Amino acid sequence: MASKKLLEMLNDQYNFELESAYVYLAMAADSTNKGLDGTAHWMQLQAQEEIEHAMKFYEFIADMDGDVSQKAIPEPKNEYDSLLEIMETALAHEKIVTANIYELANKAQEEGCFDTLEFLNWFFMEQREEENTLKPYVQRLKAIGDNMIEVFRFDAELGQREDD
Ligand code: MG
Repeated sequence: MASKKLLEMLNDQYNFELESAYVYLAMAADSTNKGLDGTAHWMQLQAQEEIEHAMKFYEFIADMDGDVSQKAIPEPKNEYDSLLEIMETALAHEKIVTANIYELANKAQEEGCFDTLEFLNWFFMEQREEENTLKPYVQRLKAIGDNMIEVFRFDAELGQREDD
């Protein structure tokens, strides 16, 4: 059984996954405005993934007999100075998610809530993947600097992302 506190923390993460989708949609829209259509495509898929993550929390909270509730989602940053800033912000955001998942796991372990620990396992793997995808993007964009031909080349590569 999960405590009321643990269920609240799970619900907070449900809302944070939705907030993540909102953050990535803002990045998609800003990219569209700047003609970075590949990045916009990548960010739209990323936002869809975040909604899928939110729904995993939704289902799990319901399975654990908890209450799913919707909280206010803060307005995300809507304008970015560069693709590097977008990817740096995305990486920083995913690091917060990773820290949240660890915090949830620590609480679940403290309570001996094995169901929650088992549920969170998938997210540890997912967070490694998110960070390991974004880190090289940041490194590459730092190397590219303000060479816009290379930025648009990279943008085109991001446009190749398939629904995964
Ligand atoms: Mg997520």
